[in-house]
Amino acid sequence: MVGTLTGIYPGTFDPITNGHTDIIHRAAKMLDRLVVGVAVNAGKGPLFNAEERVAHVEEEIAALGNDFAKRISVKNFDNLLVEFAAENNATVIVRGLRAVSDFDYEFQMASMNAKLNADVETVCLMATDKYQFIASRLVKEIAIMGGDVAPFVSERIVSRLLDRVGRPG
Ligand code: ADP
Repeated sequence: MVGTLTGIYPGTFDPITNGHTDIIHRAAKMLDRLVVGVAVNAGKGPLFNAEERVAHVEEEIAALGNDFAKRISVKNFDNLLVEFAAENNATVIVRGLRAVSDFDYEFQMASMNAKLNADVETVCLMATDKYQFIASRLVKEIAIMGGDVAPFVSERIVSRLLDRVGRPG
């Protein structure tokens, strides 16, 4: 569609956290269309499979309300990010940036993706301060060790996590 600004927000989302949802919300405010790309290959064995992660992201988006939900879609992908962006007519890659920890990696990724496709711009957004420190990896560790993950993820994800790690809700 001419004049439609489409962005891709790629990630593992294992599981989707309040930090991710905040970035989705912020990105959707700036774009006409946002495609959340759930990476199938999530490194060292994800807690939730790709279909589950897509369903979880869809639920969080539904909870943002209709105005946003109708402009956001969720898809899994296992090809090169710039190819996935092109398939979706996306010219923007959205990434979330936490304090200092993400900068190096994001800087490198953005530079390499720009070399692969000069027509795609990477835009980094920051989550609201209270969600800045949240990382899926730590949320999983806390859940596995019996800690309270309620400050970091939605109630829906809390119960899915407890279920998956075999703890009573
Ligand atoms: P994680 O890095 O937590 O394992 P992902 O790989 O799914 O999660 O991350 C997808 C994108 O979201 C990355 O750009 C990552 O930096 C960003 N992100 C993850 N958590 C946060 C957060 N709490 N605040 C801002 N951005 C975040």
